[in-house]
Amino acid sequence: MHLERSIPALRDRRRALLRTGRTVALVPTMGALHAGHLALVRRARELADEAWVSLFVNPAQFGPGEDLDSYPRDLEGDRGLLQSEGVALLFAPSSNEVYPQPPAVRISLPDLAAGLCGAYRPGHFDGVALVVTKLLNIVQPEVAVFGAKDFQQAAIVTRLVADLDMPARIEVVPTVREVDGLAMSSRNRNLDPDQRRRAASISRTLKAARTAIVEGGERSARRLESLMGESLAAEAGVRLQYVAVVDADSLQPLDAVGGRTLLAIAAHVGSTRLIDNLVVEVP
Ligand code: AMP
Repeated sequence: MHLERSIPALRDRRRALLRTGRTVALVPTMGALHAGHLALVRRARELADEAWVSLFVNPAQFGPGEDLDSYPRDLEGDRGLLQSEGVALLFAPSSNEVYPQPPAVRISLPDLAAGLCGAYRPGHFDGVALVVTKLLNIVQPEVAVFGAKDFQQAAIVTRLVADLDMPARIEVVPTVREVDGLAMSSRNRNLDPDQRRRAASISRTLKAARTAIVEGGERSARRLESLMGESLAAEAGVRLQYVAVVDADSLQPLDAVGGRTLLAIAAHVGSTRLIDNLVVEVP
């Protein structure tokens, strides 16, 4: 596996590869890799001749007071994992390489970014849209692979690429979970054993809401939100940020669930912010 830190050198490699006709699938990550990331890598290997992974903790998507400094970092561990997954190239640029000057460009998808995490992380999805645009312009992959765990991000990236006629196809991979249901996340590394145990209540709550829809026939979005809110409030040490029941395509709030419905939660466990979601097909 080749480790590349320079944009011009990466472009040279990409140009050389284009002449051979080999295709590239890009997996953008912030590192501290886990089995969720590796599922994306395996999908990338199925979709193209070479899987390339980017590792960049993007300062533009962290707000003041968020965990940019404490975000877990493990370049050596990540390199070993990616090497054994058959990744051809790891692109790990410095902040200065990606942002040699403060960007004057802003990319906003206000309708998709207004709710859910966007309501609590102002500017976050502008930072995501900017760095994804830059990475797709730098690497020019045939396909880029994202996780459904960050559902709003995947929706925003899919729409970004469609609206701007960017050539990459976006592929979304289902959420990979721990045995107790907790969605895998780099931030899980920051949980102590007690917090780690309590964190499983987030996915349990989503599953209970899905059961209420599928088996209990519940269709009121407000009642489902109350159900989820109460279930998490009962868990000591878990501080709810939001529960939401929205249309999975528009991400707009629903009164009555129907069609593809997204159930989403964000909560703090200690100082660690965790998110999770489930999509339910409601006939
Ligand atoms: P991150 O490094 O957290 O920015 O994540 C990089 C990519 O991996 C994003 O597309 C995430 O949605 C995806 N991802 C993170 N955790 C999971 C998971 N548990 N299952 C599937 N994909 C994930």
